[in-house]
Amino acid sequence: MDVTLQLTSYPGLDERITILRVGDEVDVVLVQTERFNILVDTLATPALCRQALDLLAEKMGRRPLLVINSHMDWDHFWGNAAFDHSVPIIAHAAAVNRLRDPAAQQLLAEKKQELRFQAVELVAPNITFDGETMALHGGDLTLELIHTPGHTPDHIAVWVPEIRTCLAVDTVEHPIPEVWSSDPADLCALITSLKRIRDLQADYVVLAHGQRADTAVADANLRYFAWLRDRIAGLGEIDIDVVDLAGLGGVRLQDLVAVPEDMPAETRAFYERCHRSNLAAVLAAHKAGIEFILDDSHG
Ligand SMILES: [Zn+2]
Repeated sequence: MDVTLQLTSYPGLDERITILRVGDEVDVVLVQTERFNILVDTLATPALCRQALDLLAEKMGRRPLLVINSHMDWDHFWGNAAFDHSVPIIAHAAAVNRLRDPAAQQLLAEKKQELRFQAVELVAPNITFDGETMALHGGDLTLELIHTPGHTPDHIAVWVPEIRTCLAVDTVEHPIPEVWSSDPADLCALITSLKRIRDLQADYVVLAHGQRADTAVADANLRYFAWLRDRIAGLGEIDIDVVDLAGLGGVRLQDLVAVPEDMPAETRAFYERCHRSNLAAVLAAHKAGIEFILDDSHG
């Protein structure tokens, strides 16, 4: 895994937004406002996060720093320990439940076999909100934190209306996002969140994976789920498990989305797993007779 850190941006993206890219692992974002700097996500290790802060020092100047944890997936928040306890770290209230789950410590114990994760400790956010939105008023820019569950229960996206820019993090993903579980409720939540981001009609939809800020990706993700639903519905009354289904012509990943030829094998295997999770959820929704995409998302 390439973990070289670099600062980058997209053509035309407002200069107050800076993307920090760690190879293919994750992109995190710094937003500079008149009143404060906001770092959206803290990378996968405290060491990487400290490196990021060094690279950003000049941009941040003397303004105070606020941190947002978009969700409690390791690649987005394991850098939290890089911050002094006085730094506000904001997340959705559901993030705290995820951290309390023994699975959080279990994953850390497993990943500590890799040298670069040995200094990681799980640091919880210290400001949480429980509703659908929260706003940070930076003066020139407003950051609206929007609860967008479905990929994970605690996921938040960030909307900056003044510059029509959405930091979608993992709700929108190229080539496909991944649903939290096979429970149709999580699938419905993800579809609702994708629509919510699409309906912002942003000029930029910045992703955390896939290295793009393309507004067409949310629509493409919705189409993928609509096709998946239609193909599974077309199979009729099936008694097939998800492993067999994933290999069936017409519902394989490459039948539904264009997978780049040069995608590394490891990345491809990752998205195959995401596809199987999505397939399991769509299959469960089909069997339960749950309609999860309204027809407006076909277009
Ligand atoms: Zn992620």
